[in-house]
Amino acid sequence: MGANPGAKNLTERLEHLPETNQHDDHQEKNSSRSRPVRERQDGLRTVTGKREDLTRRIQLLDGALAEGVSFVEICEAVTSRKNKEYAVPFSRTEFHERLVLLPQCLRSTENCVAEEKSAEYVCARCRSCKIAQIIDRAEELGYLGVRILKGGSAVAHILAEVAPRAVLGIACMFEGAIGILECEKAGIAVQFIPLLRDGCADTDVDITEVLEIMGFQRD
Ligand code: SF4
Repeated sequence: MGANPGAKNLTERLEHLPETNQHDDHQEKNSSRSRPVRERQDGLRTVTGKREDLTRRIQLLDGALAEGVSFVEICEAVTSRKNKEYAVPFSRTEFHERLVLLPQCLRSTENCVAEEKSAEYVCARCRSCKIAQIIDRAEELGYLGVRILKGGSAVAHILAEVAPRAVLGIACMFEGAIGILECEKAGIAVQFIPLLRDGCADTDVDITEVLEIMGFQRD
């Protein structure tokens, strides 16, 4: 995956937001995304009414795909926009109400000794991957928890079980877009960081960005 606009740090995300009305659209004017995607996002803003909104969104998606905009680009547009929309509410949520969701593919396939537990893994902190650092930081800050998921289908179940007020999710672009929508459906302020290297195993994430966003707070 190339340079990823969804990977901007939280400070940058916040700089583009006004103090109030953070759930409005905040399209990045100089977005590196393709023009067709930007135009479609602009189009989404003008739509009101749920049924009309859904129909219009489907039309926009159809149109984008027909014009050759890739599905990954669409997911990038969604995640970037949602990161901006929820940056302030996320940063204002107490640490003890925040949850981190991680993909199992971040583990080291060679060395991992995590315990399999239903749809999740429980890290044994062998320190062969970055998950141990993320859990350390979450404990320092007093986070609600860090869960390592076998797949995106577990997200809704965990949100219902843990009931966080904010979620930091790390995943591939597609799973991230789905996860964001799950959080949004549950009224949860969400931030997403895409993987630096996609794949089913031994993936990677920008740990500096993860730790920074985990610790971000705004009064
Ligand atoms: S740090 Fe945890 S998740 Fe990572 S490889 Fe070790 S046991 Fe597995």
